[in-house]
Amino acid sequence: MQAVVIGGGVVGSLIARELSRFRIKVVLVEKSEDIGQGVTKANSAILHGGYDDPPGTLRARLCASGNLMFDELSEELRFPIRRTGSIVVAKDRSELPKLEELLQNGINNGVKDLKIVGRDELRELEPHISRDFRYALFCGSAGITEPWMVAIASAINVAANGGEVVTGEEVIGGRIYEGRVTEVFLSSGRKLKADLVINAAGLFYEKVASAFGVSVPSVYLRKGEYILLDKKASELVNMIIFPIPTAAGKGKLVVPTVDGGVLLGPTSVELPGFSPEDVSTTDSGLASVRESGENLIPGIDNPKFFIKSFAGLRPETVQKDFYIRRAEELANFITVGAIRSPGLTAAPAIAEFVINTIVPETGIDLTRRDDFTPGIEERIRIKELPVREVSRLIDENPSYGRIVCQCNEVSEAEIVQAIRDGARTIDGVKFRTRAGFGRCQGGFCSWNIAKILARELKKDLSEIGQNSKESWVVSGKVRQ
Ligand SMILES: Cc1cc2nc3c(=O)[nH]c(=O)nc-3n(C[C@H](O)[C@H](O)[C@H](O)COP(=O)(O)OP(=O)(O)OC[C@H]3O[C@@H](n4cnc5c(N)ncnc54)[C@H](O)[C@@H]3O)c2cc1C
Repeated sequence: MQAVVIGGGVVGSLIARELSRFRIKVVLVEKSEDIGQGVTKANSAILHGGYDDPPGTLRARLCASGNLMFDELSEELRFPIRRTGSIVVAKDRSELPKLEELLQNGINNGVKDLKIVGRDELRELEPHISRDFRYALFCGSAGITEPWMVAIASAINVAANGGEVVTGEEVIGGRIYEGRVTEVFLSSGRKLKADLVINAAGLFYEKVASAFGVSVPSVYLRKGEYILLDKKASELVNMIIFPIPTAAGKGKLVVPTVDGGVLLGPTSVELPGFSPEDVSTTDSGLASVRESGENLIPGIDNPKFFIKSFAGLRPETVQKDFYIRRAEELANFITVGAIRSPGLTAAPAIAEFVINTIVPETGIDLTRRDDFTPGIEERIRIKELPVREVSRLIDENPSYGRIVCQCNEVSEAEIVQAIRDGARTIDGVKFRTRAGFGRCQGGFCSWNIAKILARELKKDLSEIGQNSKESWVVSGKVRQ
């Protein structure tokens, strides 16, 4: 039996990994050059507590339980998480009922470690919070992670368990026979045998569904703009800080990142039409995230801290809930779409829900394997090791001593490991190793990373792209 999972975001990759526990060959297909480069790449990276998802929704059911699965998952798949905790801050008594409503909702959703705190405890938790705030809802289970690494590590684990990870190929349709998909067609012309098909194509889930004749709720896009701040700003911030939520969403936040930076944002603006390539940022959007950040933490809106701006797109539907169903039209086709926030947090629980609840509806009987390996080997980050250990590594392999990314201290050996793990582009290396993620944003190291990619992949430099085959950096040789 063979299962084809379409989409190598955090959701598809975790579903593919969950399927790998059973006696079924798993093929994970991702149209980008690397795993985790869709919605999973650009978001707030928060493991939400789960107190603000409306009762009765799949979001409410899967967020709190997904959050609790991250400790074990991060140990097995060796990606970083930090349980920083979060606060929703309120100015005065008039805003207290909203905190109480969120508290009650959280209790109903099964969220642990949730309480309302007064001014003194708020200052202890977050000493630099604006004096305007007197109350907060504290959630101890909230945390942060590197979402793309959750997806990448899951894909590595799928391959280690005998599955296949195909990148740079788009699913364009399939062969249907007697109400079931029998083959999945890729853009290269390759055809994959399919007993089970899972559509986890993120922003493109409606497009993929329609390629198989399956109807799903229409997706529209809501953009979120961010500013990434330098590590120096992290001295002002301990935990995730939310303003009081509004009808538009959770608001513009101040969020620490796992590698020591800080994010301001996101905005929440509905895009006219369907334009999934539009990840531009705007003056007004960035001004608004700066202003909101400054209202929460005075002094954080300091141009000295600014590193870069970026935007992510939320796949929204009018139902405002995840859409996870077996297709009416096709017995073995499952849609896992409209995975808006808190889709990252919910992703491990979504994967379990799909396998335990939806797959049985397809008539496929999955049998557990007894040789599934849940873990992957930890990838070395010399920046996080004691000097003596780095020195031992350099004795074994001198390329641990050749630092390519000065900002984040990433060595050539780490970059080579990332390429062996599947990185094919400069961004592929960046997201896997953090080379190019620091203060200079790759200004100094991108060129050397491109040269290492070309050498390891035995390609010409002109074939190495920033994040796709088309985004070339060098167009060709000036002289032979
Ligand atoms: C601004 C913003 C902030 C957010 N903040 C948070 C947060 O803090 N916490 C949280 O829990 N959630 C958050 N989310 C939500 C979370 O990021 C998403 O729910 C999650 O990343 C969705 O993952 P996915 O795998 O469904 O989608 P994606 O990551 O987009 O993966 C889908 C993949 O499918 C691929 N694909 C598409 N079509 C095809 C095809 N035909 N063939 C092959 N591959 C295909 C795409 O290239 C893509 O890589 C946020 C989202 C946004 C936009």
